[in-house]
Parts: sequence; structure tokens; C-alpha cells
Amino acid sequence: MEKRKLVIIGSGPAGYTAAIYAARADLHPLLFEGFFSGTAGGQLMTTTDVENYPGFPDGIQGPELMIRFREQAAKFGTDILTEDVNQVDLSSRPFKVIGSKTEVEAESIIIATGATAKRLDVEGTRDGEFWQKGVTACAVCDGAAPIFRNKDLYVVGGGDSACEEAIFLTKFGSKVYLVHRRDELRASKIMAERAIHHPKIEVLWNSVLEKVEGDDVVRSVSIKNVETGQVEKRDAGGAFFAIGFTPNTGFLGGQLELEDSGYLKVVPGATRTSVEGVFAAGDVQDHIYRQAVSAAGSGCMAALDAERWLSEKGLLVQ
Ligand code: NAP
Repeated sequence: MEKRKLVIIGSGPAGYTAAIYAARADLHPLLFEGFFSGTAGGQLMTTTDVENYPGFPDGIQGPELMIRFREQAAKFGTDILTEDVNQVDLSSRPFKVIGSKTEVEAESIIIATGATAKRLDVEGTRDGEFWQKGVTACAVCDGAAPIFRNKDLYVVGGGDSACEEAIFLTKFGSKVYLVHRRDELRASKIMAERAIHHPKIEVLWNSVLEKVEGDDVVRSVSIKNVETGQVEKRDAGGAFFAIGFTPNTGFLGGQLELEDSGYLKVVPGATRTSVEGVFAAGDVQDHIYRQAVSAAGSGCMAALDAERWLSEKGLLVQ
């Protein structure tokens, strides 16, 4: 079986940045970019204008940005496999990485498999309906799009993400409604208060999104009050899911320690996981910042951490 000094699993900003650094450090990394597990390139592949990634004052399309990351990783000698990793074996060294077609041994691994924003299966929100035509799961990524300007916007959820996204959207929408299924927010007190007291935000308590309708873009939402059963159709320019994320850790089979929230546990301020030689970067270990630039930064950190660890263990000269 082929043996690599470093295998990188995942292909968003974190994975590709780790690959750029590792390749330039002559680690000859192998990167599994995924296939069925989600779009290679990660969450940015499903967004449009990226205006907050430094270096692009006129903005850049999410997919184009990821294509450039990928090209840069490949240019310096990263081998990229378009397949999923189904399993890893961290019980002995070198580790084993088992892809859908390829099995390799790895002295070190960087996990950068990201997190998937949860969506609700509501009529009108699915792919081919109004998904990405006014329905999204990332207000910070998509909220500034012209279709949302001066429209009533609906954010579904009651956690910190929902409050944060609702507050962010007040810059663009005429009014922002927070649609929460209970009568109490899950968000931290400070975030909840900021949202509740914001003059442009109204919380629709005990409410769920029942349907989204429109023409080319979203024009209305139907909101159901779960206590009264009453359904109200309201004008709307957009609906945003903010009901949490699922970090993509299933393939690890419980071999690495997770936070209570399900995110991969790393040493604070570094990228080391609970198994020596395994590092984590990007959204799979970050439930707070979740930005392309912070993911890229942690990808750089993971590559540097991996290189130092390989050097300390005498595994660089093979
Ligand atoms: P979260 O805390 O899990 O909240 C998810 C929200 O979505 C909850 O209010 C939940 O309702 C609602 N929800 C879940 N499934 C639903 C469904 N099927 N239908 C309707 N509503 C549904 O997720 P999060 O807000 O993304 O936060 C995740 C973590 O990141 C938290 O630890 C949070 O503190 C952290 N975070 C921090 C910041 C910050 O500090 N700036 C920002 C964002 C996130 P219920 O309340 O009824 O369960």
C-alpha cells in the first residue's frame, strides 16, 4: 500500500490551504477532495458573491475562489483524489485512510471535512425550488445579495446563529422575522437580547416555516403558529435556515475526541486532536467563526503543526 507523510481529508478553504503549505514544504500531500459526500470545494461552492475574502476588493464568486485554491494546491504538487474517505484506522501507525477507491497509509493526517448547514425539508425550499433563489443557509454568505434588499426576511432558528444572522440581515432587509418553534430562544442571553430588542427584528414565537412560494425568486412564506395551528401567508424576499450545523465526522468512527457539540476537539490555539499526528482545521473543529478566511488560516496552522510533528518524530526523511 502506498505510504504518504501527510494525507489531507477535505477540500474547502482549510483543506486546500493546508495542501498549499504542505506541498510547498515538500510533504507531497495527498488530498481527498470528496465526491458523493458533498461538493468538492465545500460550502463556498454553493454560494455566490464572496465580498469578505481579503484580496478581492471587487468580490469573487465562491466557486471561482475555490477553483483558485485548488489550482494553487495542485501547482505546488498536491495529489488530489476526487473520492470520499469512508473510513480511517488510527489504531496503529502508520494510519490507514480508506477511500471509496484508494487505500493509503499516512504518517499524519489533516481532517478538514467541514460542516454541513442543516436544512429543513419544507415545500419550496428544496433544490430545484427556491434553494439559492432566496432560500439559503448562510446569511453572512448570501445576505447582501440584491434580491434581499429592502424586503421582509425570515430567519428560522432560535440559537446564536439565528440571532447573529437576523442581526446581520437588518443591514439589508426592511424587517427581519425570527421564526422560532418554541417560546424561548436557545441563544446566549446577550445574543438573544440583542435580537429581541433590535428595532428591525421581530420574533415569531411558537412558529414554523410551512411553505415558501415565489416566481423567479422568493415572494412569500407561510408561517404556522404551532400553538393555534393558524397558518399565515406573508410577503417575503428570503428565508434563511439557521438551525445549526452538522460537523462531518461520521467517517472517523469515534476514534477522535469530540466536543459535546459534536465538533472535533483540538488543543486550544492549535490544530492537534486527541490522537498524535492527526490534526484538524476549518469548520469541522470550529463552531464559532466558520468563515472562509478563518478556515484557511487554520488550514495553514494544521500544515505547519503536521510538518513540525513529522520533523520531531524523524518522519520527514523517508
Ligand atoms: P444551535 O445552538 O443548535 O441552535 C439551533 C436552533 O435551531 C435552535 O434554536 C433549535 O430550536 C432550532 N432548530 C433545530 N432544528 C430545528 C427544526 N427542525 N425546526 C425548527 N427549528 C429547529 O445551533 P447554532 O445557533 O448554529 O449554534 C451552534 C453552536 O455555535 C452553539 O454552541 C453556539 O453558541 C455557537 N455559536 C456561537 C456564536 C457566537 O458566539 N457568536 C455564533 C453562532 C453560533 P430549539 O431551541 O427548539 O432546539
